[in-house]
Amino acid sequence: MLNKKLVLELAKKHDSFYLYDEKVIVENTERLKHDFKHVDFLYSIKTNSHPLVVKSVLLQGFGVDAASVAEVMLGKQNGVAKKKIQYSAPGKTKKDIEQTIDVSTIIADSLNEIMLIQQVAQEKNMVADIGIRINPNFSFYGEDAIPSKFGIDEQLLFEVIPQLKQLKNMKVVGLHIHLRSQELNASVLEKYYSNMVILAENFQKAIGQPLTFLNMGSGIGIPFSAEDTPLDTVYLGAATAKMMSQFRLRFPNLNVYIETGRYVVGKSGFYVTKVLDKKVSCGKTFLILKNTLNGFIRPSLAQLVMSYTEQKKPFASEPLFTCANPFELIALSDAAETEEVTLVGNLCTAADVVAKDIVLPKLQCQDVIVFTNAGSYAAVLSPMQFSSQEQPAQIFLSCKQGVINIDDAE
Ligand SMILES: *Cc1c(COP(=O)(O)O)cnc(C)c1O
Repeated sequence: MLNKKLVLELAKKHDSFYLYDEKVIVENTERLKHDFKHVDFLYSIKTNSHPLVVKSVLLQGFGVDAASVAEVMLGKQNGVAKKKIQYSAPGKTKKDIEQTIDVSTIIADSLNEIMLIQQVAQEKNMVADIGIRINPNFSFYGEDAIPSKFGIDEQLLFEVIPQLKQLKNMKVVGLHIHLRSQELNASVLEKYYSNMVILAENFQKAIGQPLTFLNMGSGIGIPFSAEDTPLDTVYLGAATAKMMSQFRLRFPNLNVYIETGRYVVGKSGFYVTKVLDKKVSCGKTFLILKNTLNGFIRPSLAQLVMSYTEQKKPFASEPLFTCANPFELIALSDAAETEEVTLVGNLCTAADVVAKDIVLPKLQCQDVIVFTNAGSYAAVLSPMQFSSQEQPAQIFLSCKQGVINIDDAE
């Protein structure tokens, strides 16, 4: 939970900052490891690449879901084994492949990429074990194949199996599918996993050699708004174990991976900002806050999306937009009186609106406001270069060492 005393103490030095609580990270990784006994987890670094956050998650035994060369290298620097650094992203260049082929398991995203990997492996005189990302003939909600920029269409992949087997410098040892994020219904994920296992079995039969991994991607969601019900990981973990026990004989050496970023770190982060100014304009009270859109973009994006629609629940567009109020807003004030305010940022644009006409305790300049759910897609998504503002600090609350400010640590 939020340590208000610590936040107020840190706010004396910083006008805006992220606070990542390692205790929450450890609780989440422990829960996943406990509930999913026969699965290995990969941390999706793109969610939050703060070096202490990454290190903390990897120390819990997680591998890496890398979306770039730099994320592959972060995994390597933290001592993660090659098979547990899975590099999956569209549009990899030859250079990307050259730099990562020795230290990661590359997941090919297209037929062109398969040929690039073959070429690089041949030049290096090696045989690369690779995975293939598939755009399957199923979805989360029962539709057939949907056009996608990710992966190779299932039907096409099965058609090219004879050609794949001709390639001398690469061997397909695994499959990867990732279709969606932020699913809270365990039955939907259960169905998705079972579709995936069937597909893997068919593929293994068709290619005639055993797979060593099945990367089931993500989908594991967290409650963002007050109305969300947490995902039942106990149910899903048990259902997954049961499914795998049925298939175990046919997949003797299979490692099953689930990727997640938000589940592990989303709730570990708090974004703290301060009231810089307060004014009344034409009867409306504005609080001007430090580094909102440019420090933590998701609240402003939620306002923007909601301002264009009458719908209560517009489609999500992860990871930019999840829902109307994807966080809790906590004003650290003892004021007994309340007032209606509009929260905006200190940028020279009117687009940095954080909340409109909400009732809060009566705040003054220098008072502190905290946003929850700021551990995932927060610092990494926010346009911090815009208008050359001082950037928010990122502070890590270590279980063993207490407060570490990464700027001081460097
Ligand atoms: C971004 C991404 C994830 C992270 O998923 P979350 O649901 O946001 O935790 C997992 N896998 C892949 C392939 C991704 O691109």
